[in-house]
Amino acid sequence: MKRTLITGAAGFLGSHLCDRFIAEGHYVVGMDNLITGDFKNIGHLFENENFEFSHHDVTKFVHTPSDLDYILHFASPASPIDYLKIPIQTLKVGSLGTLNLLGLAKEKNARILVASTSEVYGNPLVHPQNEEYYGNVSPIGPRGVYDEAKRFMESITMAYHRHHGLETRIVRIFNTYGSRMRLNDGRVVPAFMGQALRGEDLTVFGDGSQTRSFTYIDDQVEGIFRLLMSDYVEPVNIGNPDETTIKEFAEEIIKLTGTDQKIIYKPLPQDDPLQRQPDITRAKEILGWQPKVHRSEGLKKVFEYFKSLSSEELQKKEH
Ligand code: NAD
Ligand code: UDP
Repeated sequence: MKRTLITGAAGFLGSHLCDRFIAEGHYVVGMDNLITGDFKNIGHLFENENFEFSHHDVTKFVHTPSDLDYILHFASPASPIDYLKIPIQTLKVGSLGTLNLLGLAKEKNARILVASTSEVYGNPLVHPQNEEYYGNVSPIGPRGVYDEAKRFMESITMAYHRHHGLETRIVRIFNTYGSRMRLNDGRVVPAFMGQALRGEDLTVFGDGSQTRSFTYIDDQVEGIFRLLMSDYVEPVNIGNPDETTIKEFAEEIIKLTGTDQKIIYKPLPQDDPLQRQPDITRAKEILGWQPKVHRSEGLKKVFEYFKSLSSEELQKKEH
């Protein structure tokens, strides 16, 4: 039986990855310090004999008593509101946390996949973004704490590969949505859906002409799984190239949810990228991967999930 460590296990992506790897017959150690995650995302796994939880901050020395075949490093705040609230922790988890996990992978002779992001392209001057593009990131801007932590993560991962011959994989994840996102984490999908469900106006930042390309969780998990199992070392974009403006997206959510609320406009946050669309040629060629779930279908599923939350959870405001 393969043994797999997943950091960030109580978060959105990490919890879905735990489900997938258990379904693939792995023994999964889920590690998390619960800073942005929630036990309830993995509550259903506590009775599973192939799962164990380790409550640990990965910026501190990481140790597992038993052998490991695979490590997936997904621990990190991921929403702009979260990483602006805990900027130092964000830098530490991308740098010190990654260093600790690479060290662990070396000790265990395990293959490691690290969760990078489309944010390494910053406010991109190349469109769509392919993996050859070096990006346009402000190191000193507010989002730099996340973007630069992830860029450092990529550098140190490649150094461990080149210098120590470690088996490494780097996924560049584009905006992904699905069940178990925190309703109030400030990301646009839960933000708009929460507003629609609470009967509030939808807040579009800027004039809404900025674009994003949204990937459904099942497609993302499939891409990550294929990349880990491949022998490809360079970064790979995993995302859905179906691009939309945020204004059109708000209109889509209004239609889907049937709310009679309207769109209101708020200032665009500093350094908010104006466009983002993955070039997935590499993922298609190397992994035979491409997204299958259309946005309308994925959004319907995630709306059902948010509708099923208690009214207490729905009203909870963090920001
Ligand atoms: P999330 O906030 O739901 O999950 C992150 C998890 O990491 C949380 O459970 C949190 O408690 C945990 N964590 C944070 N710091 C930690 C630490 N020091 N030690 C242990 N655990 C810690 O976010 P997510 O959307 O699931 O993102 C997961 C990963 O994927 C992140 O690395 C993120 O940068 C990356 N990513 C996500 C997206 C996306 O669209 N969801 C896009 C690009 C990259
Ligand atoms: N956004 C918005 N209203 C909100 C939340 C986000 O208009 O209530 C915008 C945000 O400015 C950005 C886009 O939606 O242009 C995606 O934001 P998100 O935080 O989900 O992801 P990221 O900016 O990291 O891609």
